[in-house]
Amino acid sequence: MKYVLVTGGVVSGLGKGVTASSIGVVLKACGLRVTSVKIDPYLNTDAGTMSLLSMGRFLSWMMVDLDLGNYERFLDITLTRDNNITTGKIYQSVLDKERRGDYLGKTVQVVPHITDAIKNWIERVSTISVDGKDGPPDICVIELGGTVGDIESMPFIEALRQLSFSIGKDNFCLIHVSLIPVLGVVGEQKTKPTQHSVRELRALGLTPDLLVCRSAQPLREGTKEKLSQFCHVPAGNILNIHDVPNIWHVPLLLRNQNAHDAILKQLDCLSIAITPNLE
Ligand code: ADP
Repeated sequence: MKYVLVTGGVVSGLGKGVTASSIGVVLKACGLRVTSVKIDPYLNTDAGTMSLLSMGRFLSWMMVDLDLGNYERFLDITLTRDNNITTGKIYQSVLDKERRGDYLGKTVQVVPHITDAIKNWIERVSTISVDGKDGPPDICVIELGGTVGDIESMPFIEALRQLSFSIGKDNFCLIHVSLIPVLGVVGEQKTKPTQHSVRELRALGLTPDLLVCRSAQPLREGTKEKLSQFCHVPAGNILNIHDVPNIWHVPLLLRNQNAHDAILKQLDCLSIAITPNLE
């Protein structure tokens, strides 16, 4: 199993969900079977008891985040409730085990018990077929909700760091989605917020393989070079998703920048790289 992790920096509502589902679309068009896991670092066990206004999203009958619906629509797959992980679900599973005496009276801690539960959950759910075919999928796209540096997401970051280390570089590709704002009338695209969020990610033990830069207008070549130099990511692995009138354009933007080549190279499966047909 190979994993593509999508994290977000600088601000929330950046388009991580749309980016992650679009990456899934591009990989699927390369002939890979794709599944996905969405991590929401809040304490609710699911979105069922959350105010629809506070969620800003609506899919109450399934009691899951709309992003799971995004994945299902973009990828034509059917996900289960377990494909959505929340802090509440993880803590509930660990506390249930503690009550059953499964920890044999040992002290139960965030590290290793919560982090192990997160890793095990991801590894279990990622092998479930979601496209109606037999056998496990090839690739699991994991979206980590929230912004890197949030207190809430720390156990997840640590669990994902451990997962990436145990499965090895060829099986793990980290894509960091960040914001490139434009300041003032000069219209300069600013890279500093992205530099800081990449530094934050590195301090937590995760190194981005690709950067996806969200911006109002297409990224200038100079901005890309600066990002490459200061964020330590090859220029070819810096992708740009500018504002588009329709989010269905996002997979095309990624395909046109050869996102699939960069991801498949990172995952050591260039032999299957073909130009994805998204028309
Ligand atoms: P996050 O997962 O970071 O919270 P979402 O993927 O849910 O963000 O996207 C937040 C909002 O931004 C959604 O309404 C989505 O349709 C919109 N959006 C995402 N990417 C783009 C884009 N490239 N252009 C225009 N709107 C976008």
